[in-house]
Amino acid sequence: MHRIVGSIVSLVQHLATVFTDPEVYRPAACPHCGRAGVWGHGCYYRKADRNNSDEESLNPVPVLRFLCPGCTHTCSRLPACIAPRRWFDWVVQQAVLLLLLGGASLRHCERYSGRDRRTVRRWRDWLQERNESFAFFLRSRFPELGRRADFESFWRHVIEDVTLQQAMVWLDRVLDVP
Ligand SMILES: [Zn+2]
Repeated sequence: MHRIVGSIVSLVQHLATVFTDPEVYRPAACPHCGRAGVWGHGCYYRKADRNNSDEESLNPVPVLRFLCPGCTHTCSRLPACIAPRRWFDWVVQQAVLLLLLGGASLRHCERYSGRDRRTVRRWRDWLQERNESFAFFLRSRFPELGRRADFESFWRHVIEDVTLQQAMVWLDRVLDVP
């Protein structure tokens, strides 16, 4: 899908790039019709900063939009530090998933991560549902992962060796994530 710009890994870096080098975000072609040459089309804002206090918050965080002159669809691209269609970034999801992969119960995860149990369950179910296609493409890209047979050790190694963020950046090129 190429929705994620993998080289932008922090919100500070994202903000600097939006203002100094916005071309980084322009897609090579319209994701709807494939036509090259999309136009800049302003931005929308996301409350992407969940770490800093209100005074230090980087919110609202601008996300650049583009318009295709061929089919008139708009599209946008996100930095790797913002997860598509998710409230929390990949770093938070990765920490929770590592607890689960280590055998922690949903209740433990809720207590240690401070995230709602329903959120934790949703992330767990998402990884299990998408495991087959994710693992297939990740193994083709990172052959060293192929030796990890079971679900838990495979994903622990993805997180430790590749990081969830960069794994999703890579999967985003071939699949729709999350
Ligand atoms: Zn188009």
